Amino acid sequence: MSFHDIIGNEKVVQRMSQAIISRNISHAYLLEGDRTIDKLSIAENLAKAILCEEVTGDSCERCSSCMKMNHGNHEDVIYIKAEGNSIKDESIEEMQGKIRNKPYSGDRNVVIVKDAGTMTLRAQNRLLKTLEEPAPGTVLILLSESMENLTQTILSRCIIYKLNPSQMPEYGMSMEGAILIADMLLEKAAFYKISKKISEFTTDRETAIELLDALENWYRDLAVSTYDVKGHLVFQTERRKEIQKRSRQYKGDALKDAIGAIEQARNDLNRNLNINYTMKNMILTLIT
Ligand SMILES: [Zn+2]
Repeated sequence: MSFHDIIGNEKVVQRMSQAIISRNISHAYLLEGDRTIDKLSIAENLAKAILCEEVTGDSCERCSSCMKMNHGNHEDVIYIKAEGNSIKDESIEEMQGKIRNKPYSGDRNVVIVKDAGTMTLRAQNRLLKTLEEPAPGTVLILLSESMENLTQTILSRCIIYKLNPSQMPEYGMSMEGAILIADMLLEKAAFYKISKKISEFTTDRETAIELLDALENWYRDLAVSTYDVKGHLVFQTERRKEIQKRSRQYKGDALKDAIGAIEQARNDLNRNLNINYTMKNMILTLIT
């Protein structure tokens, strides 16, 4: 796996890749994003691209450094994780001892700090010393669900990348529209009203497909939350509570059928069928 395989957050990946090519690598990064994002995978791919013997902005997947990363045994990558509920001062101290030595193979050490937000204040203060006077070549990658628990002084020394809350594209307006439409369907609004609402959000084929994608993701989240009680798998984390509440209003296979109808509509649009006709057809399936 390389940078190119990461779905979502393409812009962030592109910026990281550009920094490597231009040899403008910072000594500290913070990747902030909720639990739906595989931050570790992004961090490891960043580390792999930084350490790769060929400077392409991504991993070459051929050199010995890339091979070691793929086998999870690169000597120059140091992991720090929480012991119990927090990252302790001692773990940071141990890392500092390691990076005082020269890297084994290349000219860089990469430190990946999982759950950086759990660092005790002492641990953060100790880490600050590394951030203030970084050992030459050292790159720290901090991963955290939120920046809230990190001190301002730490944050001010990191390049911060905010990752999208889901691996899905952002929907914005189309998601607002999708929820309105899903609610109208749930409340069994009149066919013409639903149809009118849909037309407000679909000016052309592209916006129609966007709306279908958003609608499918809305139903997908509702379907997931019927068994995922804590809502860990829900993409739209900021709407988690709302999603859980509404999912109880759907019975039997209703959500699965709805997703099927949306997929059918998307296929129809891709086959160049008339937008109006396709959407009306979908509503008819969804309201019965
Ligand atoms: Zn390589």
